[in-house]
Amino acid sequence: MAGSVVIFDFDKTLIDCDSDNWVVDELGLTDLFDSLLPTMPWNTLMDRLMKELHTQGKTVDDIADVLKRAPLDTRTISAVRSAHAAGCDLRVVSDANLFFIETILKHHGLIGCFTEINTNPSYVDEEGRLKIFPYHDFSKSSHGCLFCPPNMCKSKIVERIQASAQATGKRIIYLGDGKGDYCPSLRLDHGDFMMPRKGYPCWELIVNQPGLVKAEVHEWSNWEEQERILLLLIRRPSVAGNAAAVALLSVDCKLEVLPAAVAHEAVLHSLPVPQ
Ligand SMILES: [Mg+2]
Ligand SMILES: [Zn+2]
Repeated sequence: MAGSVVIFDFDKTLIDCDSDNWVVDELGLTDLFDSLLPTMPWNTLMDRLMKELHTQGKTVDDIADVLKRAPLDTRTISAVRSAHAAGCDLRVVSDANLFFIETILKHHGLIGCFTEINTNPSYVDEEGRLKIFPYHDFSKSSHGCLFCPPNMCKSKIVERIQASAQATGKRIIYLGDGKGDYCPSLRLDHGDFMMPRKGYPCWELIVNQPGLVKAEVHEWSNWEEQERILLLLIRRPSVAGNAAAVALLSVDCKLEVLPAAVAHEAVLHSLPVPQ
């Protein structure tokens, strides 16, 4: 059965902050972070700062406690649950790290909604120190994308997801805010949807270079909009949609609470092509 693969960036898309900055600030490492950032890649710096925390006697439980307080809106929680319940295949593609993401998603009971978390690997070593590694080992080779940071080009991940989505007739809905989400947005195809967070770098790159993104773009500027638009797009029949899906959409009372322009557009896209 066709459906949607929903790809979420994590920082400032699923949660309402940058998890790296959140941990650094909450545990008092802001000055060290600022002084070291010009000297090494961000991902390498985060590993260095986890070493610093360990040296200071801070445990992974201390880090986890901070992560559990990271802001995550209730509308995002319900959006993830609804998308999962609707049969969507949910994935995370993030330049944070596995420990941070798993800790937060488990805390909010969302981890089971995702089939895949693509991010920088991390683990707690035998001394109890959190170690963070690059997703792409740039010490061995470059991933070849000049636009993205050395440790991760999200396009490489999205291309793999895209191949399996196309094989099963699914379309992709991608939500993101950052510069690193712009590269994969260019890989999306006609029939896919791009949902950039309005006013953030990915959105600015998209609107400043109109016509480059083949996917249909739907911006969102708050968590209520994020949920509403995502669920609307999930319900929208694909280009090769079937009559049952059209019928389902036409009786969907949720459309009635949408702004007229969005609802009108949704209906237009859901109408069968006249013979
Ligand atoms: Mg982000
Ligand atoms: Zn890239």
